[in-house]
Amino acid sequence: MKVFNTLSKRKEEFVPIEEGKVKMYVCGPTVYNYIHIGNARPMIVFDTVRRYFEYKGYDVNFVSNFTDVDDKIIKKAIEEGVTAEEIAKRYIEECKKDMAGMNVKPATTHPLATEEIGGMIEMIGKLIADGYAYEKNGTVYFRTRKFDEYGKLSHKNLDDLQSGGRSLLVTGEDEKEDSLDFVLWKPKKEGEPAWESPWSDGRPGWHIECSVMSKKYLGDQIDIHAGGEDLVFPHHENEIAQSEAANGKEFSKYWMHNAFLNIDNRKMSKSLGNFFTVREISEQYDLQVLRFFMLSAHYRSPLNFSADLMEASKNGLERIITAVANLKHLMGATTADVMTEEEKLVFEKTNEFVENFEKAMEDDFNTADAISSVFELVKYANTTANGESSKEYLEGLLNLIVKLADVLGLIVEKEEELLAEDIEKLIEERQAARKEKNFQRADEIRNELLEKGIILEDTREGVKWRKA
Ligand code: AMP
Ligand code: ZN
Repeated sequence: MKVFNTLSKRKEEFVPIEEGKVKMYVCGPTVYNYIHIGNARPMIVFDTVRRYFEYKGYDVNFVSNFTDVDDKIIKKAIEEGVTAEEIAKRYIEECKKDMAGMNVKPATTHPLATEEIGGMIEMIGKLIADGYAYEKNGTVYFRTRKFDEYGKLSHKNLDDLQSGGRSLLVTGEDEKEDSLDFVLWKPKKEGEPAWESPWSDGRPGWHIECSVMSKKYLGDQIDIHAGGEDLVFPHHENEIAQSEAANGKEFSKYWMHNAFLNIDNRKMSKSLGNFFTVREISEQYDLQVLRFFMLSAHYRSPLNFSADLMEASKNGLERIITAVANLKHLMGATTADVMTEEEKLVFEKTNEFVENFEKAMEDDFNTADAISSVFELVKYANTTANGESSKEYLEGLLNLIVKLADVLGLIVEKEEELLAEDIEKLIEERQAARKEKNFQRADEIRNELLEKGIILEDTREGVKWRKA
């Protein structure tokens, strides 16, 4: 499997640190608002990377944080007259709803920065003790030049950075030894959330949280660290400096970065005001369509959001859903059960589509080509399945389409909605079963309905049902 590594700027063969396991950390959102569709891109892309590793049999430990203390969160809290904690909690919940809608799996662990302050204080203390950091008036800075390999991820030269850095000096930071040094800990300002530390009552800088949470949940060395390309510098460069200085080991073997999602061919950003939240998109489209749209381009190519592309994605997704529904319909109607010898040969040809799908995914997760392979398979199903096909053949095709779509996180099997009359019939059957004291059958029916989201209530006026 080939993975493009930002460190080497090349596609490299993926070799896990521990056989059969992948340790992966993805920088998560800062939670002060609903997530926008740009934030959704890394979520969908790296969830798909995870799903492909799992499909290949790897055990994936996937960690993704929520940054729940930050200037923007504090600003929003002041505007609303509530605590920063309340803002963060609210938007973490909302973010999780959006993730579920996009079929992004919950991470193995979703750590929160505010719950890991002790670990951050410990790592900062170690960096000071080893000469990689220093304190000035309650602020702790990382001594950037002390870390020889600084710049290796972003391929930046320290002297170029230095000349750029001088003009960018933030007021109050002129106490730094060097303009390249960055903040690990800062003292609180009036009204800000703060924690006790040996240097001042204050809070951590942004970069230190990921170094600490990655270490705690995945260990000193991980396989993949990922995020949007804007994080390469300074965030990930600084994470490398902190982690490698503190742990004395290479931090992550592979660094993956998704390109940006643009809108009207311009960078989408909160400051320009030209963004859509995932929630807004969900009012117009099933979020599966958004997922399909994101995967229709390679993750390292910029992607432009447009109504046309969303419509095309909707049609593409529907093509797969319709094929699956058709196979189901045929399965219900056919009288032939097992595959004939001839069908077996026809079915064997589907291997080709699976191979192409895997080849695309193994080439640095080329989801656009992987989708094309699913379309080829759908076309093959549409032309070879008919009223005479056996149930086994139809089921084989159906399972294959569903399985490949699932690697991409696309749900293509629509749950059949139970009609009210079917529900009533089952309730009647259950009542009859109870009369005959066949409680096993009665329970079976109750559970069957429950699985389909129908709850039965036995009342004095008889059995009532409602949707869960
Ligand atoms: P933030 O909340 O700004 O820290 O962003 C969370 C994640 O979303 C990071 O991995 C960013 O790189 C990514 N991100 C933000 N905006 C975009 C965008 N327009 N396109 C793609 N990724 C983005
Ligand atoms: Zn991070």
